[in-house]
Order: sequence, then structure tokens, then C-alpha cells
Amino acid sequence: MSKVALVTGGSRGIGAAISRALQKAGYTVAATYAGNDDAAKAFTEETGIKTYKWSVADYDACAAGIGRIEEDLGPIAVLVNNAGITRDAMFHKMTPQQWKEVIDTNLTGVFNMTHPVWSGMRDRKFGRIINISSINGQKGQAGQANYSAAKAGDLGFTKALAQEGARAGITVNAICPGYIATEMVKAIDEKVLNERIIPQIPVGRLGEPEEIARTVVFLASDEAGFITGSTITANGGQYFA
Ligand code: NDP
Repeated sequence: MSKVALVTGGSRGIGAAISRALQKAGYTVAATYAGNDDAAKAFTEETGIKTYKWSVADYDACAAGIGRIEEDLGPIAVLVNNAGITRDAMFHKMTPQQWKEVIDTNLTGVFNMTHPVWSGMRDRKFGRIINISSINGQKGQAGQANYSAAKAGDLGFTKALAQEGARAGITVNAICPGYIATEMVKAIDEKVLNERIIPQIPVGRLGEPEEIARTVVFLASDEAGFITGSTITANGGQYFA
């Protein structure tokens, strides 16, 4: 029986690449999403990967959704906390709503998804939790006080939980991507992207979602069992944590 992997935000962008790569590596994959039904439908038609819709910001929905996936596919062995949003504004213009939405999704969402799978992983003495943080959680980014705080919080969560999971065969790691060519980054003004962002990346290009996906597949594998509490930086040399 193949292991079950759950990828949040797994039907678009980096998450879709992660879902595909895990499927290719032999996992039975479930992908969650928040609202883009068209993208989810097209993704399922193309890949055969089941998609499930709820917000990671809602704890009860996470617990119920995870229960449904485990009934459909079996116990979750690998959880990839990838879902994320941006609500950028300079701090003097940032609204409490912009702060709350990003913290609720990018930080509390990681708690909401991990908590319901944790006991089962402990009982089965195996689990892989992989949190997709960000370069901006490591270095901070003007205009993203909310996002940087949430993504830095994900790194603290990763390190604390790695210590709790170690004896139970559960590894907890984080990946910090730099700028990756997805809709989130393509939404940035092209002039800003070409004149200000790409010149700061030593390799001279944006990363590809598949480059993050391959790192996830490695961290999910049995071979990566000694790696826990780590932050893997994948940013083309832009920042060394
Ligand atoms: P996209 O915007 O392309 O996709 C985001 C995915 O997350 C979508 O599937 C979306 O669902 C889902 N999602 C958003 N909010 C929720 C929610 N409340 N509940 C459930 N699912 C939700 O993002 P990327 O692929 O670019 O980013 C993926 C992750 O990587 C994020 O955590 C991001 O912060 C991080 N990251 C991205 C970088 C980049 O350069 N792209 C750089 C560093 C980190 P739906 O399809 O329904 O909208």
C-alpha cells in the first residue's frame, strides 16, 4: 500500500508541483484548496489527484476534512503545509484585517492542519511534516510585516515540534523558497520583477516550482529520517540564513 501524502494549497503553484512530484514518487496524494474550483477541477482531471476544499484558517474544517481524507485514502503519513497568501502593505497602511488574514492562514493554518494528524502519526510511529516557509520569514521584507512574521513563526513551530516528534519517528522540517515562478510572484509588477528582484538573485533567474517539489520528496522519504528541525533554504543564493 502506498503512503498517503496531503498537500495544502496543492492544486496550484508550488503546491501543484509538490502534489505531482509526490504522486510520481509513489504516494497517494490528496490536495486541498480554498476557493479556486476551476483550477482544482482541471488539476484533478489532469492528474487524477483528489482535491478537497476548505480553509486552513478554520480548525474545525481542518479536523473534519482530514477525517474525510483518511476515510477515503487511509492514514496520512506526509503532511505538506504549503497553503499561503499575501496581503502586502507598508506597515503604516497595514490594516488589522490584512494582518489577521495572513497570520490566520500562514501561521495558525499550519497549527490547524498539523494538530489533527499528530496523534495518528505518533501512534503509528511515523510521520513527515514539511512546512513551506519563505526567504522573507528569514530576512524580513518591507511591505510584508504580516507575511514575514507568519513565515518566521512557521520556522519556530518547525523547530519546537521536531523535538516533540523525534522519538515518535516524526520529522518536522521547513523549506524557505526564494522567488519562485508562480502566480503569486507573477502578480508582481513586471518592471519591479525584472529590474529589482531578479538582479538580486545570484543565479539570475526565478526558481521553478519543481525545484521546491524535489526537496519535499527528499524530506518525505525514509532516507531523510535523520533530518529534523531543519530549514532548507532554496533561493538561488539570495540569502544565507
Ligand atoms: P499560489 O498563490 O500560487 O497558491 C496558493 C495555494 O494555497 C492555492 O492552492 C490556494 O487555494 C491555497 N490557499 C490559499 N489560502 C488558503 C486557505 N486559507 N486554505 C486552504 N488553501 C489556501 O501560491 P504559491 O504556489 O506561490 O505559494 C505556495 C507557498 O509557498 C505559500 O505558502 C507561499 O507563501 C510560499 N512561498 C512562495 C514563494 C513564491 O515565490 N511563489 C516564495 C516563498 C514562499 P486556491 O487555489 O483555492 O486559491
